[in-house]
Amino acid sequence: MTARILSGKAIADAIHSEIANEVKILEAEHGFRPCIVVVLVGNDPASQVYVGKKVKAAAELGIASEHEHLSADTTQAELLSLIDRLNPRDDVDGILVQLPLPSQIDERSILEAIDPAKDVDGFHPKNAGKLSLGYPSLIPCTPAGVIEILKRSDIEISGKHAVIVGRSNIVGKPLAMLLLRENATVTICHSRTVNLPEMTRQADILVAAIGRAGFIKDEHIRERATVIDVGINQIDNEDAVRQLFAADEKEKRMNAIATRGFTLVGDVNPKDAMQKAANFTPVPGGVGLLTVAMLMRNTLEAAKARRNM
Ligand code: NAP
Repeated sequence: MTARILSGKAIADAIHSEIANEVKILEAEHGFRPCIVVVLVGNDPASQVYVGKKVKAAAELGIASEHEHLSADTTQAELLSLIDRLNPRDDVDGILVQLPLPSQIDERSILEAIDPAKDVDGFHPKNAGKLSLGYPSLIPCTPAGVIEILKRSDIEISGKHAVIVGRSNIVGKPLAMLLLRENATVTICHSRTVNLPEMTRQADILVAAIGRAGFIKDEHIRERATVIDVGINQIDNEDAVRQLFAADEKEKRMNAIATRGFTLVGDVNPKDAMQKAANFTPVPGGVGLLTVAMLMRNTLEAAKARRNM
């Protein structure tokens, strides 16, 4: 039996319409719209695409947005001074600085400078601390999206063994806290984990957040597990496509490489996951779509919390 595909699009669409409705009510009954400021430094093409998606989603949902595009040679002091101007602005509910930043800027100093109440990425140490303690806070968007996919697909979390491969501050660690909050038993694996397949084969819910194309294969997956693929990687050659995709999908991927030079794949081998898992998130079209939806929801939640609503 092949795996059920968990469509990020259907879930993101449902969340978008919930947010759009709430924004409409806020405007009609309380006379304001949430507002996010997205800050981009430099001209990294992938970052430009991500920022574009965020600004477009805000517009579609009735959320006000501003886009600050600074040059690649912006200094740390200049970026800090922009954040210092945005923090006290009453009309700004969310501040998002697109990562990665150019090498002359210390990422940590920037993330710590953002007002935690406006930290819609959920990366400020104060929000990370609250998440660890189980207090309400702004939660990192990608891990929050993974939880939405599981819940809205009626996949039981409580009492299940969730194994996460990857321990980054933006995905692996906060996701572990969220799964723990949902009463899963959580194991976090990383590059020093000994005998990874043995660990991952214990997973009822296996999450891959590694950054290596098709790394999780048949040997890592327990029969009928739920496999969530957070990875976003570019591949550009036929050999890699052949290893990852069955014939019909292979042709589509080769066409993508021919037209734009690459195709996007996750950290899981989709051919293997489709054969072995019970549920599987595709790349593209899975977790990635939820990340933007959760950013919009964080902006809405920040706007309400700042007004004690
Ligand atoms: P990251 O900071 O580079 O962390 C990667 C993690 O994978 C690290 O904890 C690393 O272990 C672990 N790892 C690397 N090689 C491994 C191996 N051979 N065996 C076991 N673990 C290994 O990456 P990230 O920022 O969390 O992102 C992970 C992936 O998710 C990337 O593909 C990224 O593009 C994608 N992503 C997607 C979204 C989305 O919206 N869908 C959002 C964010 C990230 P160590 O800690 O030991 O080095």
